[in-house]
Amino acid sequence: MPVQGQDDDPRMPYQLPFPKDAQEEIVIPDAVAVDERVWVPQTENVSFRPLCLNRSQGYWMNLLRVRQSGVLSRHRHPQPVHGFVLKGRWHYLEHDWVAEEGGYVFEPPGETHTLIVPDDVDEMITYFQVNGVMLYVDPWGKTMGYEDVFTKIDMCRKHYEEVGLGADYVEQFIR
Ligand code: FE
Repeated sequence: MPVQGQDDDPRMPYQLPFPKDAQEEIVIPDAVAVDERVWVPQTENVSFRPLCLNRSQGYWMNLLRVRQSGVLSRHRHPQPVHGFVLKGRWHYLEHDWVAEEGGYVFEPPGETHTLIVPDDVDEMITYFQVNGVMLYVDPWGKTMGYEDVFTKIDMCRKHYEEVGLGADYVEQFIR
C-alpha cells in the first residue's frame, strides 16, 4: 500500500486554482457523432471525427470510421499508436490478428500496415491515438505522402467551412 496522509474529507473538492498556464479540458458528450457534418471525409469510404488535435505534443485522438469494405492506405508509423475498437471489425494485411469490437491494440513504432475492413462489416469505428506522423508508403517503403496533426487540422478547417459549421469549428479540438 502506498503511504498516504490522513484525508479527513475524501469528498471535499480540491481547493486551489489549477496552474494558470494549464489548458482547457475538452468534453464531448456526443463523441460518436450523429451529426454527419462533424465527420471529415478522407477518401470515399474513410472519414474521421476529431476529438483532440494536440499541436503542442504532436498527436491526435480521433474516431476513424470506415464503411463498405474500405481500405486505409498502407502507411508507416515512426511513433506508437493506440486503438480501441468501438464498432465493427478490421485487420491489417501485414498481421494475422483481427481487431474486433471492444478490443484494444497497441502498435509499436516501426509498424507499416494497411487497414482492411471486411465485406461483411457495414461500418467500423475505432478510437485511435496517433503520434507524430503517418507516412503513406508504397509496398517497398518509399514515402508517397504524410499526415500529421497539422494536416489533420487543415482538413478539418476546410471541411467544416464547406459544410457550414465554419472553419473555426475545429478550434474546440485543438490543444
Ligand atoms: Fe496505422
